[in-house]
Amino acid sequence: MNRKLNFSAGPSALPLSVLERAQNELTDYQGKGFSIMEISHRSKIFEEVHYGAMAKARELYGIGEEYDVLFLQGGAHLQFAMIPLNLAAKGVAQYADTGVWTSKAIKEAANVGIAYEVVASSKETSYDRIPEVKFSDDAAYGYVCTNNTIYGTQYRELPRSKAPLVVDASSDFFSRPVDFTDVGLLYGGAQKNAGPSGVTVVIIRKDMLERACMDRTPTMLRYDTHASAASLYNTPPTFGIYLLNLTLGWVQEQGGLAGVNRINEQKAALLYGAIDGSGGFYKGHAQKDSRSLMNVSFTIANRELEAAFISESENAGMLGLKGHRHVGGIRASIYNAVSIENVRTLAEFMKEFARKNG
Ligand SMILES: *Cc1c(COP(=O)(O)O)cnc(C)c1O
Repeated sequence: MNRKLNFSAGPSALPLSVLERAQNELTDYQGKGFSIMEISHRSKIFEEVHYGAMAKARELYGIGEEYDVLFLQGGAHLQFAMIPLNLAAKGVAQYADTGVWTSKAIKEAANVGIAYEVVASSKETSYDRIPEVKFSDDAAYGYVCTNNTIYGTQYRELPRSKAPLVVDASSDFFSRPVDFTDVGLLYGGAQKNAGPSGVTVVIIRKDMLERACMDRTPTMLRYDTHASAASLYNTPPTFGIYLLNLTLGWVQEQGGLAGVNRINEQKAALLYGAIDGSGGFYKGHAQKDSRSLMNVSFTIANRELEAAFISESENAGMLGLKGHRHVGGIRASIYNAVSIENVRTLAEFMKEFARKNG
């Protein structure tokens, strides 16, 4: 087997043991004589997977029955619209703008026609930091994106808020413990840390379901539709949920969120160490106090060397290091499933590249 060292931003690396188990079970699920893809979502066998994944999500985040865990489709992008459609019937929704993903969420709030305002932004400085965020007590909700995949910035912790927080955690999902005290809704597409694309996990506090929906919100776009049917209102993405269940099981085996967080901190320290120790050869995009543990975005002072960096890294078996078109440069995504050995190899490669070209 010749697997690449995969630093893709999303979809991204999955644990090898999860892929191998799925491979083993693909045509014959646990000796039943069919694939998990080939049976009813209302069968007992699938229900075990479905409710198993929900239970693992709860257990990992340490939340109880006061939250519903929903498995939806449409990606984070559909959440940009569902959130204002469902949660902003009363009060003004407030947004903290920390990059492309929050900008798109704000645009959808405008499309939906709710009252909203942007109360903090780091746009002026190319989204290189997490701004000071304070939501009004009476806001409909306070919206944040915890990890900004493109710029490589991340909240150290969630802001305290009397208004319920709505959190896009797509790119740091299940990567560290989260204090849910003020969280009304937290969501993420599975494809960065928790599985394949096609499943969006929405964790919603039950009282948020009781907020009046807007008139004529389509049935499929209402959270209460999915909550009251345990995400089996219609056919859910069964194979994606199966892989989500396996991946969350793998996170539990790593010692849960505290366990993966410990490794994630070590991984990030290796790459930021290579940047900071390069004597100015590399330049990190994010301000130090806003640095992400998941996406390390940087440029090379001599920008002309970036193409060579990418092509040499590819020759060395590394995948997905080209920066997002909004920032350019280089981005290493080091989600849960990227091993510390692979990150160490990249850090050594960076040092060697700087030595040769500095
Ligand atoms: C990737 C990403 C999105 C977009 O996800 P889709 O599943 O493509 O809709 C939204 N927010 C964040 C933080 C992301 O990293």
